[in-house]
Amino acid sequence: MSDQNKSIHEFDFNLICEYFSSMERQGPGSPEMTLRALSFVDNLSAGSRIADLGCGTGGQTMVLAQNTQAKITGIDLFPVFIDLFNAKARKLNLHERVTGITGSMDDLPFREGELDLIWSEGAIYNIGFEKGLNYWRKFLKPGGFLAVTEASWFTDERPEEIDSFWRDAYPGIDTIPSKVAMMQKAGYIPVACFILPEECWTEHFYEHQVKAQEVFLEKHRGNRTAEELVENERREAVLYSKYKEYYGYAFYIGKKI
Ligand code: SAH
Repeated sequence: MSDQNKSIHEFDFNLICEYFSSMERQGPGSPEMTLRALSFVDNLSAGSRIADLGCGTGGQTMVLAQNTQAKITGIDLFPVFIDLFNAKARKLNLHERVTGITGSMDDLPFREGELDLIWSEGAIYNIGFEKGLNYWRKFLKPGGFLAVTEASWFTDERPEEIDSFWRDAYPGIDTIPSKVAMMQKAGYIPVACFILPEECWTEHFYEHQVKAQEVFLEKHRGNRTAEELVENERREAVLYSKYKEYYGYAFYIGKKI
């Protein structure tokens, strides 16, 4: 396989962690859109339990914590992210009810029917949208909510260049009506769905990376893996600006029935 065709999954995980650790978020999104999605969720109280799966360093988790009284558990595969998450919770004085733990979203440490809300921004793709919806459902109470963002096509057809990029990066990408149908089939009422605005990708994600990339490349000068990681991220940003009419993230909010 040529270097050019290497996918992000083959890069050294420690470098990926270091690269993304310096950023507020590890995926597209914004506090405003987290709050918009939260506005569709009813009946949260101080006794409620929320899980944020693939929480990263907790950018969106702290927004949830500051806007609910619920007890929140963040779960991420990478201990480095979880350490930053817990440091952030302490700094914001939220650590009494916000805890980050290392774990995998396909092997959850919750009891069946324990959760009022499952949250996951830019992360369900790691196990696949359908698999995540099906597996996570049993941990929700009846009437509990699920709110996830997922890469989605905005049109039925699109230029070959972007189609082939996504076929390689995440073949599970699909149109919004298909994703909503999957949600319904998995046993959730599709309560709401909206597309994340462009600034969730630009201002809140790619623009933060520009400075971080310089620092990272300086530190790892001559390290081909680090250079490839940055090239990959830059290519993604270029493709986004070229093809943003055709794809993006949508927030899907469902209620367990
Ligand atoms: N929700 C955060 C992070 C999104 S990036 C945000 O929006 O900023 C995707 C996250 O999923 C990364 O932090 C990655 O470490 C995590 N991840 C990948 N596979 C995972 C798995 N199997 N279980 C839990 N987390 C996982």
